[in-house]
Amino acid sequence: MRENRFSMKQIDERVTLLNDEPENKNAKYVLYWMQMFKRTSHNHALKFAIEQANERKLPLVVYEALKYYYPWASDRIHTFILEGVEEKRKEFKKLGITYVFYLQKDKNAPKQTVKKIAQDAALLITDDFPCFIIPGHNAAIVEKAEIPVYAVDSNGIIPMSKFDKEEYAAYTIRPKINKILDDYLKPFEESEIAVKKADIPVDCPDTQVTAENIAQLVAECDIDHSVKPSPIYHGGTANARKRLKFFIENILENYDETRNKPEIDGSSRLSSYLHFGFISALEIALEVKRSKAKQESKDAFLEELIVRRELSFNFTKFNQNYDSLAALPDWVQQTMRDHVDDEREKVYSLEELENCETYDELWNAAQREINITGEMHNYVRMLWGKLVIQWSKNYEEAFAHLEHLNNKYGLDGRDPNSYAGILWCFGKHDRPWMEREIFGKMRYMTSNSTGKKFDSKKYIEWTKTLSKNAKLPPAKNSGETLPFGE
Ligand SMILES: Cc1cc2nc3c(=O)[nH]c(=O)nc-3n(C[C@H](O)[C@H](O)[C@H](O)COP(=O)(O)OP(=O)(O)OC[C@H]3O[C@@H](n4cnc5c(N)ncnc54)[C@H](O)[C@@H]3O)c2cc1C
Repeated sequence: MRENRFSMKQIDERVTLLNDEPENKNAKYVLYWMQMFKRTSHNHALKFAIEQANERKLPLVVYEALKYYYPWASDRIHTFILEGVEEKRKEFKKLGITYVFYLQKDKNAPKQTVKKIAQDAALLITDDFPCFIIPGHNAAIVEKAEIPVYAVDSNGIIPMSKFDKEEYAAYTIRPKINKILDDYLKPFEESEIAVKKADIPVDCPDTQVTAENIAQLVAECDIDHSVKPSPIYHGGTANARKRLKFFIENILENYDETRNKPEIDGSSRLSSYLHFGFISALEIALEVKRSKAKQESKDAFLEELIVRRELSFNFTKFNQNYDSLAALPDWVQQTMRDHVDDEREKVYSLEELENCETYDELWNAAQREINITGEMHNYVRMLWGKLVIQWSKNYEEAFAHLEHLNNKYGLDGRDPNSYAGILWCFGKHDRPWMEREIFGKMRYMTSNSTGKKFDSKKYIEWTKTLSKNAKLPPAKNSGETLPFGE
């Protein structure tokens, strides 16, 4: 999936023209193919599409599809995406925009749908997301479309184009972000479609999704049915905003202390909503900035949401090898060569890892959390990755196991943060530490030392209750748990 750097022309900070096809002068509409920014507001791609339609006095069609064959497609991921469809349909209707959602269930279902809808479009706008299947999708549509294709970056607060190369680490990107952040941390100005038309017929099946038929629709898809929907996290912008409100009212004040406590509800737990674009980082950052929480907590949160997250996007945008060990810096390559033959005392198979069958109770608990809920707390996620390096026959196998476990079970997987996070365990965006067996100069973590920094017993016990009573642990101040999606 490396053919994603086609002939491109940067139109502005967020917009790239991917081809040089002429516009269709007999068009019936402008087409926005929504792939990753699954929201109707704070969306630069949607805004650009509306403006293009208005310039041409055309209506807008938004097309979104969910295919059955993308890597790790499962009941969990499908359900989370489908949970966001009905609210978008209602919102687009109000906005006067046609919205088509196509659930392609199996190999017999209609194919080439974007290409067909594009035949009546003046131009096509889509999402510029720098990893997983999206760069490949965009390369493929450029091959097929006979109209201009634009990719728009609505990933982060700072446009990815503000950096012209891969940044080495957080300390190199942080000052660059801070220098320009005020220019971008501003309320989003929405655009309104001029030609309102919410029922344009298009050459593609339109799947009607309701809360009541999601389970049935998912059951009919040719996907992995063994990974069940999350009992805690439910998709959609409304659920994301509900969680954001809960976070700001009950958690943010103490975030600087509680974010490293997996046994309580002490962080935003918004990563899956961010991954699917149900909510934008800008909306979250502005709400956090506006809140009355203490400054240390706000700063700590914005460091994760902006500096760390945008470092990951920068990494996958500029590093063609982001999904392999080849993306690691020279010092890691050297240390891996030096320690490739070190003896691994215990090697676990993927199946043993997946079944939480290691000798380490804390590791098993972390895997249990992601297996059941679809997320794993950041603090244990670091340890989780480190231990798999120690328990695999070589570094390549460790990476493959981590990628699989993270992307199969994590709702927030398959993201720039997934690859930056996993490779961080191998030393990416980090520095050399004291040399030791297997890890060489990579930072080392143990369950003993990590587990002393929080109430690991409580966390382990909580994960054991999840299969019967799937609830988040209480937040420090509220004593309540958030009933997501109720
Ligand atoms: C091995 C490993 C794998 C990871 N896989 C993923 C993944 O698949 N998807 C994912 O979104 N994150 C991943 N991370 C980063 C981090 O663990 C999660 O973003 C975090 O746990 C999400 O929880 P939260 O939303 O409560 O975070 P909060 O603490 O509330 O932070 C707010 C937001 O900031 C961003 N953020 C937080 N921590 C980091 C970080 N270390 N790096 C980059 N961005 C961050 C996320 O978008 C997060 O939602 C991984 C980290 C490691 C070590």
